[in-house]
Amino acid sequence: MKQTFMPDTKTEEGLKTIQLEGLKWTVAHAYHGSDFYRRRFDEAGVKPEDIQSLDDLKRLPFVTAQDLQEQYPWPLRSVPFEKIVRLHASSGTTGKRKVMIYTAQDVDDWANMFARCYEMAGLSREDRIQICVGYGVWTAGAGFQLGCERFGALAIPAGPGNLEMQMQFLEDFQPTVICSTASMGLLMAEEVDRRGLRDRINVKKVIFGAERSNDAMRNTIKKLLGAEQTFDIPGLTELYGPGTGLDCEYHTGIHYWADYYIMELLDPETLEPVAEGEVGEMVYTTLRKEGAPLIRYRSRDLTRRIPGSCPCGSPLPRHDRILGRSDDMFIIRGVNIYPGHIDEILSCQKGIGSEYQIHLNRGDDGKDYMTIRVERAEGGSPEGDGKFAAAIEKNIRKDILVSGAVEIVDYHSLPRTDRKSRRVFDNRD
Ligand code: ZN
Repeated sequence: MKQTFMPDTKTEEGLKTIQLEGLKWTVAHAYHGSDFYRRRFDEAGVKPEDIQSLDDLKRLPFVTAQDLQEQYPWPLRSVPFEKIVRLHASSGTTGKRKVMIYTAQDVDDWANMFARCYEMAGLSREDRIQICVGYGVWTAGAGFQLGCERFGALAIPAGPGNLEMQMQFLEDFQPTVICSTASMGLLMAEEVDRRGLRDRINVKKVIFGAERSNDAMRNTIKKLLGAEQTFDIPGLTELYGPGTGLDCEYHTGIHYWADYYIMELLDPETLEPVAEGEVGEMVYTTLRKEGAPLIRYRSRDLTRRIPGSCPCGSPLPRHDRILGRSDDMFIIRGVNIYPGHIDEILSCQKGIGSEYQIHLNRGDDGKDYMTIRVERAEGGSPEGDGKFAAAIEKNIRKDILVSGAVEIVDYHSLPRTDRKSRRVFDNRD
C-alpha cells in the first residue's frame, strides 16, 4: 500500500513539468485516438507537435457540453472499446446524459486522486467512512468507495436516505467520517439531534460532495453531530467524478490536483484568462485521461483562484468554492456579474433573510440599473431596513464595482420553490 497519495513533486516548477509532459501526451493521444479531436485540431490548424510549452494550450479549440451531447453515447472516446472497463453518466437533468468512459488506468488514477482527498482531510487507515451518497451509474458512490479502499480506510457503503439504517450504522459501526451531500448531512444531523444520539456516535469529520452548501448549513451539521471539521469535494462527471480536489485542514480554499489536470479560469464572454483573483469559468484539460480525455472543456462552473501559498505547505494550487454557473452571468455597465457573487455579499450581511431577486432595468437615460430585493430576516423589524440596505449597497460597490439599489421586503414575500430559485429578472429591451 502506498504511503502517500500526494504529488511526486513539492514545487510549482515540478508541477509545470508534469503538466507540460501530460499536455503533450494528451494532445497526441486524442489526435490519434479520436476522430472528433482530430477534426477539431485540423480545423484549428494545430498539430500535436505544435504543443511545446504550456502557453501553447491556448492554441487548442474548446470542447463544450453540446459537443458531448452531439457525440452521445460515446463522447470524446479516444481508445478502442476493448480498453474500456467502465462507464459513468450524469443524471441528465438538462438534455441527454453525459456519458464518460474509463480505461483501467483511468479508474486507477481516479482511485489515487480520491485517496489523496482522504489524505488531505487528515484521515488515517484507522478511520471508518460512512458513505451516504448515491450508488449507481453516476460517479458519486463509486468514487467515494474506490478512494476509501485505495486509501485503506474502512468503507461503509450506506448510500443516501434510509435514516433508520443510517442511525443504526452510526451507533453500531462508530464511523469517524461521513460523506454526503449537504442536504443529506443536514437530515442526518437533525435526526441524530432528535434522537439524542450525539454522545453515542463518533463522527469527527464530514466531507460534502456535489452540491453547493453555505456556511450556516455546514455549521449546523457540525454542531449537531459534534464533528470537528467539514470539507468540500468538487466533482464533475466529465473530469472523472468527485475527488479531484479538497480543502485541507486549514480550509483556505480547495486544493486541486494540478498534476492530473490543468484548470484555466477564463472570462466566459471573451474566453481570455481573468486577472488574478477574479471570477472566471473553469476550463479543464486532463493530463493522463485515456478513455475520454478533456481538452479545454468548458465546465460553465465559476470560481476564482486563491493567490499565494497555503500554510499546509502543499504546492497544489487552490480555488474558491463554486460561485455559480456562467449561464447565469449578466452584464451591467460593462461589468460581468454572477448571482453567486451577490449571494456571497448578502450572506455576509446580518439582519436579512436568504431569499433575494436581482432586477435589471434600462432607465429613460439609456443607462442600466440594478435593483436587488432582499427579504428581511424572520421576525426582523422594518426599522433596520435603511441601515441594512445601505450596508449592502456599499459592499456591492466595493466588491463588484457597480452600484445597485437595495430594497428590503417583508419576510416570506418572495416566492419559494423546491427547485432552483430564479434570481435574475432582466427587463432590459
Ligand atoms: Zn492547504
